[in-house]
Amino acid sequence: MGGILTFGEVRDGRLRRPSLEAVSEARRLADALAARVETVLLGSGVKGLAAELGRYGADRVHVFDDPALAPYATEVYARALAQVIREAKPSVVLVPFTAMGKDLAPRVAAKIGAGLVSDCVALTLQEGRLLARRPMYAGKAYATVRWEGEPQMATLRANVFALRPPDAARGVEVVAGTVDAAARARVTAVHAAAEGKIELSEAQIIVSGGRGLKGPEHFHLVQSLGEALGAAVGASRAVVDAGWVDHQMQVGQTGKTVSPTLYIACGISGAIQHLAGMSSSKYIVAINKDADAPIFKVANYGVVGDVFEILPRLTQAAKAYFLAKG
Ligand SMILES: Cc1cc2nc3c(=O)[nH]c(=O)nc-3n(C[C@H](O)[C@H](O)[C@H](O)COP(=O)(O)OP(=O)(O)OC[C@H]3O[C@@H](n4cnc5c(N)ncnc54)[C@H](O)[C@@H]3O)c2cc1C
Repeated sequence: MGGILTFGEVRDGRLRRPSLEAVSEARRLADALAARVETVLLGSGVKGLAAELGRYGADRVHVFDDPALAPYATEVYARALAQVIREAKPSVVLVPFTAMGKDLAPRVAAKIGAGLVSDCVALTLQEGRLLARRPMYAGKAYATVRWEGEPQMATLRANVFALRPPDAARGVEVVAGTVDAAARARVTAVHAAAEGKIELSEAQIIVSGGRGLKGPEHFHLVQSLGEALGAAVGASRAVVDAGWVDHQMQVGQTGKTVSPTLYIACGISGAIQHLAGMSSSKYIVAINKDADAPIFKVANYGVVGDVFEILPRLTQAAKAYFLAKG
C-alpha cells in the first residue's frame, strides 16, 4: 500500500482551510491503512507552512518554494504535483475542490493517467481501497464510486470533511523540490474582488438572499444579518441575474458550492439549481412567506413569514446576543 498524498493550497501567505481538511481526511484514512501522509506545497515564501501541515497530520511535506510560483500557474503547478506523484507513488491523491483544485486536479490526473472522482463528500475504505460518495444531477442523487488502478485521485468538497484538532507535538519531514517554471500562460495580475470579506466557500455561516427581498435597495437587510453573525453573504441566481449583487456571491449549480455549518436562506424559493450548491450545509434555516416553498423540504428550521419583518428582528437579536456575550 502506497501513501496518501494531498495538495496544500496557499492564498495570501496562509494555508486554505480546505487543504487542512484534506490533510485531516488523509490522516484518518492513513491511520486505518497504516500508511503515510505526504503533502505538496507550492508558492513563494511557503516553507514555514510545512509545520502547520504536520500538526494536522502530514508526515512529509514536499516544498516548492520559489518566487516564480507566487502567482498560480496551472501548467507549472500541475507539473510539480505530477512529478511528486510519479516519484512518491501514492495509492491515494486528495485535492481540495476549490477553484484552484478544480483547475489543477484534472490536468494532473490526465498527466499521470489516474482516474479522478470530483466533488467527493465522503470517503470510506473497503478492503484497503477507497469508495467515494459524490453528488450527481445537481445534488438530486448520490453516486458511490470506486477506482480501477492507482492512484485513486479525488477532489474533496470544502467544509464537509472534519478538521482534526492540530497536534502541536507532531513533527514533519520537509523535502525541498524544484520544478521547471517555464509556462505558456502566466498570471500577470490578480484583482481581488472582495478584500476583507469572508470567502463564501470557506464560511462557517452564510446568510443568502433571494428575489423575496423585492429589490437591491433591500439587500442590506441580508448584509446586516450577515455582519451581526460574522457570516458571509450569498445570493440566488435570480438576484445576481437581476444585477442586485455580484456574480461571485451566487450559490448554486452555476455559482458556488458551499457547505457551511449554518445556511440561512432569506426569500429564496429553493429551486433545484440553488439546492445543488447548498444542500450539504449542516443546518439550513429558511425564511419564506410561502409555507409550500421547496426550500422548506431541505430546511432544518423554517420560519414562514415576511423577510421584511423577520430579518431586522433577527439582526437585532443577534447583535444583542453577541453584546451580552462580550
Ligand atoms: C441551468 C440553470 C442553472 C441555474 N443555476 C442557479 C444557481 O446556481 N443558483 C440559483 O440560485 N439558481 C440557479 N438557477 C435558477 C433557479 O432555477 C431559480 O430560478 C432561482 O434559484 C430562483 O431564485 P429565488 O429563489 O431568489 O427566486 P424565486 O424563485 O422567485 O423565489 C422567491 C421566493 O421568495 C419568497 N418571498 C417573496 N416575498 C417574500 C417575503 N416578503 N418574505 C419572505 N419570502 C418571500 C417567495 O415565496 C419565493 O419562494 C439556475 C437555472 C438554470 C436553468
